Amino acid sequence: MSTASDGRAAPAPSPNSYRMGPDEHGFFGMFGGRFVAETLMPLILELEEAYAEAKKDPEFQAELKRLNTHYAGRPSPLYYAERLTQHLREIAASKGLKGGAKIYFKRDELNHTGSHKINNCLGQILLAQRMGKTRIIAETGAGQHGVAVATVCARYGLPCEIFMGATDVERQKPNVFRMKLLGAKVNAVTSGAGTLKDAMNEALRDWVTNVRNTYYIIGTAAGPHPYPAMVRDFQSVIGQEVREQMLEAEGRLPDTLVACIGGGSNAIGLFHPFLDEPNVKIYGVEAGGYGLDVPNGHSASINGGKPGVLHGNRTYLLQTDDGQILEGHSISAGLDYPGIGPEHAWLKETGRVNYVAVTDKEALEAFQLCTKLEGIIPALEPSHALAHVCKLAPTLPQSDLLVMNMCGRGDKDIFTVAEHLGMKM
Ligand SMILES: *Cc1c(COP(=O)(O)O)cnc(C)c1O
Repeated sequence: MSTASDGRAAPAPSPNSYRMGPDEHGFFGMFGGRFVAETLMPLILELEEAYAEAKKDPEFQAELKRLNTHYAGRPSPLYYAERLTQHLREIAASKGLKGGAKIYFKRDELNHTGSHKINNCLGQILLAQRMGKTRIIAETGAGQHGVAVATVCARYGLPCEIFMGATDVERQKPNVFRMKLLGAKVNAVTSGAGTLKDAMNEALRDWVTNVRNTYYIIGTAAGPHPYPAMVRDFQSVIGQEVREQMLEAEGRLPDTLVACIGGGSNAIGLFHPFLDEPNVKIYGVEAGGYGLDVPNGHSASINGGKPGVLHGNRTYLLQTDDGQILEGHSISAGLDYPGIGPEHAWLKETGRVNYVAVTDKEALEAFQLCTKLEGIIPALEPSHALAHVCKLAPTLPQSDLLVMNMCGRGDKDIFTVAEHLGMKM
């Protein structure tokens, strides 16, 4: 997309609150904004206004709550992972340490369609309906967001077109079939490498051409303003529930939060309600792939990328020295987006959140450990968060209450896992 001129200096982060952002232009410090073609601007402004009104409307909020409860299955449980906790305490003890945090899983993998994606799609389909839009478009990489969009479109009887890179269409056949069953049209995008970045470019292009009737449901907390803030708001139900559930379970707030990061929507959803609690330690876990030192061998935009502009916002991106966007790599299809939501970029700059990376191999080990110890097959995405929990928990005191976002279930990943473990199915 072409870029709007915007040479604004970064305002200092608010000393009072990490939850105030973005500013009226959509900036979190120097990140975010809306770098879009002029033709897209009226649409973006219309969306911003419609969302600002919906957000304040008790009827909109009540309808969303009703859908979250009866359609998606919220609230998702906050589960004490007792055997994993015990296992990591034994590891700590074997090293002569007294540590081993008490580990809870936020069970968003139990949602309808198997991940947190539905939280955002329900919010946006209600908004689309409210705006009188009659056609829905979306981008998808691995197909999880595409399936969630096709699901809510079926529920609301709206036609939908999903843009998906041709390479991904080939790699993710079961999800392509699901989308078709749900009534969606899947457009294979052949430009570029035929992956998520190209699908998102194509969806933005479609939006400009079909201005009048079309609503674009973006799948993560990225894109031009107001998407990063809006998607965050819809996903914040995760963190709000954790607050209440932890107060009920333990009588106090958690000490540590951990979530995996693709574009960053499940993570910001968990983190945001806690950003202004200075005693809560927060970790975002990026996909370290083959290792951060392997060129183009990971998807760690913050730990291995640089700031730039893509898909309508300024943020950390995987790119070459001359600014070409890199494809990156992760064992987990849902984590290999070359960017990250702008609010995370800002939380990294301000130091409020710690961003770490975990390799494919570590995630695969955590996947197996969780499956065997807890009887929960995690998606490969949250297996990254789990792998970091396995490193972190033994170093924390036993009184530390740690919450990890189990943002997706692993049914979709069993083929990938079988291949990596050299097992026959
Ligand atoms: C899509 C997806 C992700 C990555 O997206 P975020 O916006 O970073 O949350 C992570 N986990 C699961 C299970 C997903 O489906």
